[in-house]
Amino acid sequence: MIIAIKDLSEGINEFEQIVPSENYKLPESEFYPNSLTLKIFVDRLENLFRFKISVSTDAVFSCDRCLETYKHGFNETIEHLYQLGHSELDSDEIEILPENSKEIDISQTIHDTFILNRPIQLLCKKDCKGLCVNCGVNLNKKSCNCQQDEIDPRFEKLKLLLK
Ligand SMILES: [Zn+2]
Ligand SMILES: [Zn+2]
Repeated sequence: MIIAIKDLSEGINEFEQIVPSENYKLPESEFYPNSLTLKIFVDRLENLFRFKISVSTDAVFSCDRCLETYKHGFNETIEHLYQLGHSELDSDEIEILPENSKEIDISQTIHDTFILNRPIQLLCKKDCKGLCVNCGVNLNKKSCNCQQDEIDPRFEKLKLLLK
């Protein structure tokens, strides 16, 4: 998404846009089939632009344990500072753009929001029981007899010795 900055007024400017997620070549893009709602606030102070970008969409994740897909609201906000010309502030936290820039492309920042906020573990629910390692049954839906039958081979030997 490209924001024309030349004519932005000082202070807060607001934008809202609904865009197809495929515009952003998102990481693990299969998780984000729906469009993205972008709410953008740009606080301008001369040549310093403070962007606050809220990204909302419905993520369709695949559970790490049971492999079922589930919906999850993705609502995240990221801030990013751009400065035209040069900056006296810490340059790690501020992106410097050429003095005569007429627009700012925030696509990378939107893309990064998905990397930074990707849940470490994808779980359909906290206590998802997952799949049985033996027969593959989804233990949230059905139970199986594998666990009861499963005996550590070392204990099996021990049992024989005790007989
Ligand atoms: Zn699950
Ligand atoms: Zn089983």
